[in-house]
Amino acid sequence: MMRSTVTAGDAEPGHAAPRGPRPFVVEDRRRESDIITSFILRPLDGAPLPRYRAGQHLTLFADIPARGRQKRNYTVSTAPNGETYRISVKREANGIVSRWLHDEAVAGMSLDVAPPSGAFVLPEQADRPIVLVSAGVGLTPMVALLEEIVRSDVRAQVRYVHCTRNGATHAFRDHVRELAQQAGEVTTTTFYSRPRDQDEAGRDYDFRGRLTVDWLATYAPVGHAEYFVCGPLGFIRDMVQGLHRRGVPVGRLHYEFFGPITDVLGEEESVEAPYAPAAPAAQPVAERHTRVIGTLTRNQMGGALLDSAADAVVASDADGAIVAWGAGAERIFGFTEQEALGQSLDIIIPEPFRARHWQGYRETVASGQSRYGAGDMLAVPGLRKDGKRISLEFTIVLLKNPEGRVAGMVATIRDITARFEELKALRKQVMKDVAHD
Ligand SMILES: Cc1cc2nc3c(=O)[nH]c(=O)nc-3n(C[C@H](O)[C@H](O)[C@H](O)COP(=O)(O)OP(=O)(O)OC[C@H]3O[C@@H](n4cnc5c(N)ncnc54)[C@H](O)[C@@H]3O)c2cc1C
Repeated sequence: MMRSTVTAGDAEPGHAAPRGPRPFVVEDRRRESDIITSFILRPLDGAPLPRYRAGQHLTLFADIPARGRQKRNYTVSTAPNGETYRISVKREANGIVSRWLHDEAVAGMSLDVAPPSGAFVLPEQADRPIVLVSAGVGLTPMVALLEEIVRSDVRAQVRYVHCTRNGATHAFRDHVRELAQQAGEVTTTTFYSRPRDQDEAGRDYDFRGRLTVDWLATYAPVGHAEYFVCGPLGFIRDMVQGLHRRGVPVGRLHYEFFGPITDVLGEEESVEAPYAPAAPAAQPVAERHTRVIGTLTRNQMGGALLDSAADAVVASDADGAIVAWGAGAERIFGFTEQEALGQSLDIIIPEPFRARHWQGYRETVASGQSRYGAGDMLAVPGLRKDGKRISLEFTIVLLKNPEGRVAGMVATIRDITARFEELKALRKQVMKDVAHD
């Protein structure tokens, strides 16, 4: 069994502080990248923080209107300073707490926080090289560990490898560089899976593409280092298994799994972005049409999609009434075309998600912009005619009238219930393994 770190309740006790949640105030917030924002949390009563170690995570309780009290874990992304915590949160496309933090948590707001715990911490004796490997928001514990390494003057050789999509998603770039400069023995390497035009190799990042275990085996001291890995589930699995196969003993493989479901489903900066080869540039539609379709008209192509029972193709007008209902939609949701046409999209949205759905829908109609038309997947729960909840992934295409205003949209929806359940079970198993570790 690999050594993992998602264990609770093992923070060091200190300052006789209570172990349960206590009120904190958001003292400040800071944008670290397009998708990650940090929040500084200070105890409301001014009492000192309990003692904890770099790399551990706290538990935050957020009272969210219409959602009730929500509980989530966030790594403290600084080394302990005795006074405040910093958490650095990735905005999940459809996440309840991360979106609330990004959109609503401003300076002065209070929320409850339980003390940090977890075992993703540096070994007591730092006599071996240390290799830190992160992808996406998995960098948060690494920043804390690096700060700790600099502060405590750890003499070990340290190599930090981080993978992210590009300069827009790259959080803490300058901070990590400064830390590496302060600590003589720290080397940092960055992989961008999809650099933007303005991202310059050698200046902003080191390698384009994905990190492989072969690369680590070549450039990091396999065999005698302590490895710390944090990122999406697939990334952790590949790195940890690969390193183990190359001879790193399990006792020196530490990993932290954050567990948001999008990480397992492959949403945006999770499995797909930092860890997959760059996607080829999209071709203009007209070019694809003449090259691939030959004499077939675009209408015929659209008709074929609607008649297919594979994915559900559902079109709705600007008010959200269903105007097209493909054979795949009949199969997935159980409503016939006759039953669905003219109905509100509410028939396939579970009640608790409707308000949020319509807010997004109205915003999209008004702005004419949707990120889910450019390849990003939206993962949501759905509702069948028989009342059964299912898990869906979809993209949308906006339909615009000649004036350029949104007249409706077409969603291509896939039923991912089986995969979702399987991944949930896998995640549960990982947690169980970890708990028994
Ligand atoms: C030890 C630990 C440390 C962590 N540290 C950090 C950290 O430093 N920074 C950080 O950003 N996060 C961290 N996390 C993750 C964090 O706890 C949250 O899981 C994360 O912020 C997402 O929470 P949320 O409420 O925004 O999303 P949730 O509301 O929990 O939803 C997550 C995603 O799942 C999708 N989803 C929900 N239900 C379904 C369904 N039925 N079908 C399909 N898709 C669905 C949604 O689209 C959403 O995008 C950590 C987690 C752990 C366990």
